[in-house]
Amino acid sequence: MISKRTLLMSFGALVCLPAGRRARADAPSPAPPSSSTPSPAPRLSSSVLSREQHERFMRLAIEQGRKNPYYPFGAVIVEPQTGAVVAEGTNNARENPTLHGEIVCINDYVSRHGNRGWGSKILYSTAEPCPMCMTALIFAHIGGVVYATSAFDGQKKAGMDPIKISAQDIVDATPFTRPFLLGGILSAETDRMFLDRKRH
Ligand SMILES: [Zn+2]
Repeated sequence: MISKRTLLMSFGALVCLPAGRRARADAPSPAPPSSSTPSPAPRLSSSVLSREQHERFMRLAIEQGRKNPYYPFGAVIVEPQTGAVVAEGTNNARENPTLHGEIVCINDYVSRHGNRGWGSKILYSTAEPCPMCMTALIFAHIGGVVYATSAFDGQKKAGMDPIKISAQDIVDATPFTRPFLLGGILSAETDRMFLDRKRH
């Protein structure tokens, strides 16, 4: 229950604040942190693009993936408002264990555009991001992630043994940002690509 004193203090704050800050004083207080507090709403939605457009960008991620015949993990970052492909990457974990396709793509983005503008971007990946990559994408505050092959179905069938934490688990455990996730785009094609990859 709101006390009279609280109401009076709020009114005082409204009167004293300059115009630019009144909107904040009017806004409802954020809910107290709690384990049951849902993550914030996504800033971007997967419906910002059509299924055909998602498939078109996934084909570019597949092109990147095919550059590594052993581990065809590839990614691109797209600006959906303009359709511009603003970064790309292919798994290079042979050189450095952190260089998954998504991380190479993140690094390419930063080298070309700086560490900004993530919220309006979508990353496309040939496979569901692992916990390391999904966490990095969340730390970037990316707007959305679209992937093809799932970790626990397609990657397992292709003889890989992914960590048993899904990309959705990472998003659900994050209190401060919420990219949208969309899986299965062109997964028939990428599942086959992972199955047919060169084996050591
Ligand atoms: Zn990864």
